[in-house]
Parts: sequence; C-alpha cells; structure tokens
Amino acid sequence: VKGWGEPYFSVNAAGNLTVSPKGDRGGSLDLFELVQSLQQRNLALPLLIRFPDILEDRLDRLNACFAQAISRYNYTGHYRGVFPVKCNQQRHLLEDLVRFGQPYQFGLEAGSKPELMIALALLDSPGALLICNGYKDRDYIETAMLARQLGKTPIIVLEQVEEVSLVLEAYRNLGVKPILGVRAKLNAKGSGRWGTSAGDRAKFGLTIPEIVTAVDALKAEGLLSSLQLLHFHIGSQISDISVLKDAIQEAGQIYAQLALLGANMQYLDVGGGLGVDYDGSKTSFSASKNYNMQNYANDIVAAVKDACVQHHIAMPTLVSESGRALASHQSVLVFNILGSSEAAPITPQAAQEDEDLIIRNLYETYSTLNGENYQERYHDAEKFKDDAIAAFRLGYLSLTQRARAEQIYWACCQKIQIMIQQQGSVPDDLRSLSSALSSIYYMNLSVFQSAPDCWAIDQLFPILPIHRLHEEPSQRATLADLTCDSDGKLDRFIGQGQTKPILELHPLEPGKPYCLGMFLGGAYQEIMGNLHNLFGDTNAVHIHLTPQGYDIEHVVRGDTLGEVLSYVQYDSEAMVERIRIQAERALQAGHMTLGESQQLLQRYEESFRAYTYLSSH
Ligand code: PLP
Repeated sequence: VKGWGEPYFSVNAAGNLTVSPKGDRGGSLDLFELVQSLQQRNLALPLLIRFPDILEDRLDRLNACFAQAISRYNYTGHYRGVFPVKCNQQRHLLEDLVRFGQPYQFGLEAGSKPELMIALALLDSPGALLICNGYKDRDYIETAMLARQLGKTPIIVLEQVEEVSLVLEAYRNLGVKPILGVRAKLNAKGSGRWGTSAGDRAKFGLTIPEIVTAVDALKAEGLLSSLQLLHFHIGSQISDISVLKDAIQEAGQIYAQLALLGANMQYLDVGGGLGVDYDGSKTSFSASKNYNMQNYANDIVAAVKDACVQHHIAMPTLVSESGRALASHQSVLVFNILGSSEAAPITPQAAQEDEDLIIRNLYETYSTLNGENYQERYHDAEKFKDDAIAAFRLGYLSLTQRARAEQIYWACCQKIQIMIQQQGSVPDDLRSLSSALSSIYYMNLSVFQSAPDCWAIDQLFPILPIHRLHEEPSQRATLADLTCDSDGKLDRFIGQGQTKPILELHPLEPGKPYCLGMFLGGAYQEIMGNLHNLFGDTNAVHIHLTPQGYDIEHVVRGDTLGEVLSYVQYDSEAMVERIRIQAERALQAGHMTLGESQQLLQRYEESFRAYTYLSSH
C-alpha cells in the first residue's frame, strides 16, 4: 500500500483501509466504514467510489510540478495542460475537472466527434485549450473552427495527411482562421504495450516529409501563421523515462525547425504517457515507472528550453495530455466475495497390500517426502498420477481407485508446497504448484465490465481486502468473477517489479462480509467495460470530504436488468406478457397452482428493476 497508495491510501489501526483524498494536507476516512454506511443507503456492491478531492489533488500536483520545473530552469514559457476526455468521459468527473482546472487554464483534449461535443459544452474557462485530436471529417473541423468565435481556443491537430485539404476547404468555406497543430511521427520509439504509438508505422501523425508538404500547402493558402502547435504522443504508461528523454529532444528540434520555416509556433504538446506506479516498485516494469511527476516535468522543460536556446527562438507554452496520471487514483471499486473453494488439507490413508501398484507407489512417494528430496518426489508423483489416469482410460482402474490416486497426488503437492514455503525459494519446475494449490474466491463482479484491461491486455491493478488488514492473510487465492467465461478471472497480481500468480487473502468468516478493493482503475476501465453476460454498469458514488465528515455528492445508479435487456432490444413489458401467457397455459394444464403462477410473475416483473449483480442477502 505504501508503494502504490501514498499519499492517498494507507492502513489504519483498526486494520481497515484509509482514504486521504488530499494526502497529508486534509482529512481521511475509513473506507470499510464508508462502504457499510453506503450499503445502509441501499447502494449495493459492487460499488465504484469516486473521490473528486483526489482528482483535484492530482491536478494541483501536476501543475505544481510544471511550475517548479519552469522556475528551476528559468523557462520563459508557461504550462497549460489538457485532460484527454477518452480517459474517463463521465460527466460529473469532467465537470469537476474543468472546475478544478480553472486556476490553471487547464483544458480538454477530444479524440472524436462526441468527445468534441462534450469538450465544447463543458470547457468555458478563458484561455484553456481545446485540443482536437483523432479522425476528423468536415463537420468536426468546421464545428471546431466556429467554436473559436465563442472565445474558445480550439486547436485542430493535423494527424492525417488528408486533414490538410479538409482544413483548407473549411477555411475557404467559413472564412474563419483556425489554430492548427501538427502531430509528428517521431523516430524515437515508445516502449512497452503502447510503444507502437510512435514510429513510422504509428496510426496517427505525419512523417517529416509529410509535415514539410503540409507546411508548403498552408503557406500557399496564406495560413502558415495558423500553424501554432506541435504534438506528439509516444504511447500511454511510459515506464522508462529514457524513452521520453529521446522523444522530447527530437520533438524540440522539430518544433524549432517549424518556427524557422515561418510557422507561428506557440505550443509544444507532449501528449500523454505520464505513468502510474501500479505496483509501487518504482522500476521500469510495465506496471510501474522509474521516475516521478517532477522528474517528468523537469525533463520536458529542460529539453525544450535547450532546443529553443540553441535556435534562438521563443520558448513555447508546454501542453501535456496526461489522462492516466490524473484520473487513475480517484476511483476505488469495492466488491464482495460470495464464497470460495478452498483446497482443504488432505491426509490420505496408508496404502494396503492389495491396492493397485500405482496407488502403492503414490503413497510411498507421499510418505517418504522430505525437505531434501521434495523436488525429485514431485516428479515421481506427477509420473504416477499420469500412470493412474492412463490406466483409468484403458479400464484398469475404477473410478474410486482413480479418486484415491488423485487424492494422494494432491496430498503430495500440499506437503511440497509447505516445504517450499519453509525454504523460501521456489525451484523453476515447481512454480506452477502454488497457483494449482490456491483457493478460488468468487467475486461479485464482472472483470469484463469493471477491469477490462486485466482481461484484454494483462494490466495489473492493486487489489486487496479493505478490512481485516491487521490479520495475517493465510489463504493463497485467485479470483473468479460472475461471468460464465473462464477468462473472467484474476490470476495475476502485483508483486514488486513482477507479477504474482496468487493473492494472499483471509479465510472467509461465515455470515460476515469480505470486501476487496481494486485501486487505481479510474482511467479507461469504465468506458471500455462491456456487457458480457449482461452484467451492467456498477453503482457509483462521488464522495467529497468535509470538515464534519463527507458529502455524498452524486449517486449514479448502476444498470438494472431492464436497462441491460433494453440495450439488446428487449422490451420488458412484452417479456412479462409472454411469461403471463405461458403461466396461464401451465395453470390451465394443471402444471402450476394460481399461487405459484402469481409468485413467478411477481418475481419476473420485479427483476427488471433489480441490479444485475448478486445481492448478498
Ligand atoms: N493523448 C493521446 C493522443 C493519446 O492517444 C492518449 C492515450 O493513449 C493520451 C493523450 C493519454 O495518455 P495517458 O493516459 O497515458 O496520459
């Protein structure tokens, strides 16, 4: 928790997780107690809790880091960041973000027409930038151009060669001079999962020859003074700062050259990529990053200054499009565990003289296992278990004999696992044992809806119980979700600079809730979540800390069954009518009593208003 959670999350004396939305500058609250009181308000789990105060703090920190870097390097330009709307389009969140950003003239970045509509409606702070990225058609471009007349600062970033002629046409049509930017395909390669966002084969951006051609085309039309911004984006979650250093050096030179070619350069937009330390290891591992926000700002400011001084040009306003680094921390997804399947300790009965040789061999392996020979005995046990299954397939072992063989095999594995734990190091060939022997905890959640990146791209998020943290977690478990899809599971967890196949959890206590939190998932997860098996949006609340405690600012109810069914074109009334007709038929045929049919109809009708997740009562 210290590694990835500071300064927002910590563990209190009661063993519960504490949230301090303003870090050490403000109050804190007990997350488990908060969840209990929200449940009493009929807000069922799974529940997404957003803390707008954390969002504000992230924004303050980012701006403070750039302010400090600017002052440290005597940089003569400014910083004016934007938030990429695609990272989390939720209205309350964006309204808060725009409000928190006003003192900094913080703007928004749109990557599509619907996002442009959002950004135009919400962004009303004078001077804040509206960066228009993504694929554009004439409607997109003309809307953005006209918005200039509202006193906004939309910057249309040319990302495809075809957009140059679209912009020229729109200019001829409207007579409004746009502010333009150009996105460069840098040679400096990104790294990690999103590394292909840069380089010649990147989906977006103009190559250097294409940029030069675009400059000529704008010049011919008398629009070169409109070209004011250079943009690049080398991919999200930059884990290694050296990648950024190369990119910013190259971008600094392109910026200077554009200014020397006569463009009216004002802004250098370094895109997104500022990473989040999901595992707290502070390394260049993909779930971490080997730099902090201040290092990031320093490197950008210093490199851009160097390029400008070298070419005697004015230092630009720096723009960054950090999404993940701003939005990840503000939300916590809390879900309950519905049950578990635990591997109970097995003590097999001794093999008898008249039992099959395979069973006697397995038992012999089990009874002679010790700290010296466990690796060799593991391979023996594997071989005898395979023999048992082969013999069963050929009809030489009965079902009961096979069950006995498998039981002794698992008893061997359990014994070996204890020996490995005592010795502290795991031989390579025994690594899979720990996940094979782990318990499965069933969570009231859909991975596809709430943590899609875990399924799609093996993303790691910190996951842990939000209570009982003063008790040793003695179970080693993986997590299975509610969908009937074997991919709906979590079996990779954060380690220190590596992944772990199991999560340490507490044994379940009968009749008592066991709640886990998934942290740092505030970016991208909500919108990319899907309706697999028709598990819908979870309930969400916005919690703002006050001197007296907290305010529940907004409650956004999750999808009901009726809503998710309507997304796939079902009409609840028509469905109820169908069941009514079938119940009437069953009644007349004497298969059902009137009482039963009424009960069924009532349940069926009520279900449309129910939450798609399992209720815990
Ligand atoms: N800007 C652009 C053009 C992007 O494609 C992205 C996401 O990949 C971002 C900004 C946001 O990146 P991040 O969330 O890593 O800050």
